[in-house]
Amino acid sequence: MILPCDPRAQYLSYKKEIDEAMSRVLNGTHYILGPEVEAFEQEFAAFCTTKYCVSVANGTEALQLALRALNIGPGDEVICPSHTAVATVVGIEMTGAVPVFADIESSYFTLDATNVRRRITPRTKAIIAVHLYGHPADLDALREIADIHGLKLIEDCAQAHGALYKNKVVGSIADAGCFSFYPTKNLGAVGDGGAVVVQEAEVYERLLLLRQYGWKERYISVVSGYNSRLDELQAAILRVKLRYLSADNDRRRVLAEIYRGALRGVGGLVLPLEASWARHVYHLFVVRIPGQRDNLRRDLQGQGVGTLIHYPVPVHRQPAYLSLHGPQGLPVTEKASDEVLSLPMYPELGQEGALKAAEELKKTLLKKR
Ligand SMILES: *Cc1c(COP(=O)(O)O)cnc(C)c1O
Repeated sequence: MILPCDPRAQYLSYKKEIDEAMSRVLNGTHYILGPEVEAFEQEFAAFCTTKYCVSVANGTEALQLALRALNIGPGDEVICPSHTAVATVVGIEMTGAVPVFADIESSYFTLDATNVRRRITPRTKAIIAVHLYGHPADLDALREIADIHGLKLIEDCAQAHGALYKNKVVGSIADAGCFSFYPTKNLGAVGDGGAVVVQEAEVYERLLLLRQYGWKERYISVVSGYNSRLDELQAAILRVKLRYLSADNDRRRVLAEIYRGALRGVGGLVLPLEASWARHVYHLFVVRIPGQRDNLRRDLQGQGVGTLIHYPVPVHRQPAYLSLHGPQGLPVTEKASDEVLSLPMYPELGQEGALKAAEELKKTLLKKR
């Protein structure tokens, strides 16, 4: 069976170093906010080419704390895609702000700037661009709108560690970059984790306060904050994996090329695109299969190829959010939800794994014609 993702394979790749890192933490004096977290924050900021990094408990809270640090809260509206992990939306809701869904463009599954412009009201305070599947959103187009209307622009980089937008590392470009280290992400812990990277000292200071009870010094809260900390074990493991992140992203890109080579010209299938201004890091390799996606997925499963759907129901169509968005449609988003299929993708999949998955997909599609 070929799994759609396999975090254990990554542990096995770096087992010796990870085991050593864990033992170092267990035998150390700090289990929370100690030397590993401090070192990881410096190393991850350097990777993202930002001045600062504040690690937090997960990617959802990275979004929440970034919004709060940028003074967004109750009564404000934040524009985001509906074609995203629901975590993007939850992060907004946690601040008391209202998520407002905009449609995506169809090439890269990222926010459509023209559609975003139409969602702006006097209450709009921010836009969250999601670099979905590992492909950056068109940040210049969104920045232009944000500047005209005095909005903050936040990057949801949870699927795009190390992706490039016009040769700049995602996370370093807008007002804040938010990351998740959920185990299957391009940089994954063995539990929950997240981080916010920023360039401005003032925002950084606010993030530090917010993540730990509003403490400036121990036991003295100067603002009302939260508890959102990365622990030392996760930080130590992330430090090991960060050293291999660029190489692992390169391996994902090689696998993407293998998929492209094997699937080019196959009918009934649309391959993912990479903009000329982008470096895709293939958190997911997502094809479109108009009309017969669900049957095909079942057949593939029977042939030993596991796939996933990101995401089967757009957020604005999920029960919890129906009243928020109302009946109006987001046509590009809804079409994408019906057609997308995520093929197996992780660095350890290997050339053979990708070739086998591609062959089975091709066979299954031919049978359906
Ligand atoms: C994974 C993810 C998040 C954050 O998820 P957590 O599980 O809270 O770490 C946010 N946005 C997107 C697009 C994601 O894929």
